[in-house]
Amino acid sequence: MEDYNQNDNGYESICSVCRRSESVAGKMLKMPGNTWICNDCMQKTMDMVNAMDLGPYMNGEMPPMGGFGMPFGFAMPGQPKPEASQTEEKKDADSVVESGDTDSEDQPTKEDKKDDDKSKDDNVKNVMGGMPRFSFLNMNDLLGGGFSGSRKVKKKKKGEYKPLIELKDIPAPHEIRAKLDEYVIGQDMAKKAISVAVYNHYKRVATGTQEDIEIEKSNMLMIGPTGSGKTYLVRTLAKILNVPLAITDATSLTEAGYIGDDIESVVSKLLAAADNDVNKAEQGIIFIDEIDKLAKKANSNTRDVSGESVQQGMLKLLEGADIEVPIGSSSKNAMVPTTIVNTSNILFICAGAFAGLDEIIKKRLNKQNTIGFAAELKDKFDKENVLAQVKTEDIRKFGMIPEFIGRLPMVITLESLTKDMYVQILSEPKNAILKQYQKLLELDEVRLVFSEDCLEAIAEKASQEETGARALRAIIDKFMLDIMYEIPKDKNIGTVTITKAYIEGSGGPVIEMRG
Ligand code: ADP
Repeated sequence: MEDYNQNDNGYESICSVCRRSESVAGKMLKMPGNTWICNDCMQKTMDMVNAMDLGPYMNGEMPPMGGFGMPFGFAMPGQPKPEASQTEEKKDADSVVESGDTDSEDQPTKEDKKDDDKSKDDNVKNVMGGMPRFSFLNMNDLLGGGFSGSRKVKKKKKGEYKPLIELKDIPAPHEIRAKLDEYVIGQDMAKKAISVAVYNHYKRVATGTQEDIEIEKSNMLMIGPTGSGKTYLVRTLAKILNVPLAITDATSLTEAGYIGDDIESVVSKLLAAADNDVNKAEQGIIFIDEIDKLAKKANSNTRDVSGESVQQGMLKLLEGADIEVPIGSSSKNAMVPTTIVNTSNILFICAGAFAGLDEIIKKRLNKQNTIGFAAELKDKFDKENVLAQVKTEDIRKFGMIPEFIGRLPMVITLESLTKDMYVQILSEPKNAILKQYQKLLELDEVRLVFSEDCLEAIAEKASQEETGARALRAIIDKFMLDIMYEIPKDKNIGTVTITKAYIEGSGGPVIEMRG
């Protein structure tokens, strides 16, 4: 039987990394400090060192930065390199950035190798802003985690582009509109305009490279009061088309280097929505709400620099640019892998309430008419939807910079919702709030009925709030809470009718028993 007891004290030696004894792990190497390491752990360490880009250190261009004390015969700057490290260096050059690149059969010529090294070096520099990658040895890595600190920038290969919606499958504008009608109440002009714009956009995307005639990008600007359905319209649209959608708020965006999300974070949100599939993300929709908050303050000589510079920063994004975004994280840092996303085919939809824009439009319209009729015309404008008459000069006066407006060629306005529309929103859309509650109680075999006057009472309450259709949900959730709590208590309840009196607080719901 083999004698494993190599320690002077008569005990079996233990690997200080994997803690296995010599009888299990095989013969061990003695390390400084009277510690032992088994063959497997030694091999892992060597493999890991190979995976690191230590070329610059081994060439003696930069001194090693600590963390481990010159292991495995590394040369100090100026010292002759030991033979062993030269073999390591060759291996090293083959295993940077692109993993799995372990081709060692044909020895590259000096020239080839130089080119190879250069492109790989460029790649690394791209990622690290000129700094070589560096990692300290740590026990977790040794225990099988491997080296995970490298950042890889996926290079875009030609021919990777694949349209999400084939040309023949793009729904025609009237089909898009019909689908939107199932969910969105009113907003006829907006639905029509958006259907055409989206149809054209995906035609442009489906043709991939524009050959002779370049179809311009049709990014959109949506203007409409809070809760009029801007976000809802875009959400529904993305669902109909089955394309990834990212929704962000312009107020959280800042220039790079300031506290907040930098502008490019909107693209990484889209990438996350596309399950990190770059091809899918590049054909998705980015919705940026509250865009009006980036406007320069009107009637003030001080320029609102932060809002304006975010507008500036967004220009290249809207137009189409290669953006380096982190994968699986919203912030770029040294340890997060990144990829390149091109924004040329991403549909940007910016939206905002633009409070006060109607006054700017009215002023312009009144100026155009004879002064004597101004009062009469003002009344007329109040009745009509003034916003629908918006021109780019009004938006510029509001405080958006001309270059920014220029990159949102489609301007779509939404109207304020009326009380009748609120009643429709409650009950008509495919996923109407009342239908959702009815479905929930149906599962308890209870029928939920809303009387006609109760719907009007809810609409009336909602119109007193300033939050548009969003108020409907808040009101209903409040009075449905008791019902949803009490009804399941009694298995004999068959029907519950919500009445106007219950909404107004002067009565209760009508309850009928089974049978
Ligand atoms: P905003 O215009 O402020 O973006 P939202 O789109 O977020 O408003 O609307 C809030 C909610 O109100 C939506 O989730 C939706 O349920 C409802 N809603 C708003 N407008 C409509 C509409 N025209 N048709 C149906 N539901 C609507």
